[in-house]
Amino acid sequence: MDSKQPPPPPAYSQPGGVGYSQAPPPPPGYPGSTVVVTQPVHMNPYMFREFGVQMQCPHCSATITTSTRYEVGTLTWIACCVVAAVGCWFGCCLIPFCVDGCKDVIHSCPSCNQDVGRYNRM
Ligand SMILES: [Zn+2]
Repeated sequence: MDSKQPPPPPAYSQPGGVGYSQAPPPPPGYPGSTVVVTQPVHMNPYMFREFGVQMQCPHCSATITTSTRYEVGTLTWIACCVVAAVGCWFGCCLIPFCVDGCKDVIHSCPSCNQDVGRYNRM
């Protein structure tokens, strides 16, 4: 029975005189009320539909009526898959690509030609 006793754990001796790590007080005269206004991401307040909308261009700040163009979007592909799934092969599945009603509408600024919005049908 030589039960070896493990050595006692070393005593963790706290170093004496632990100073209070205080944050330095703010300099006098500093305005205490620092209101940090987190600007929300500029959401598009405009409802982009199929037709041009009157708005202020975020790029050139001109008051414009957006010009629209159609672009193949998610719905176009889904419609294509649906048409193909029901057995309409041989080009019928390409019909959605010719139908503007299945495409997304891109709104662009006629003044600076920047895209300002998109009407996603999905
Ligand atoms: Zn513009």
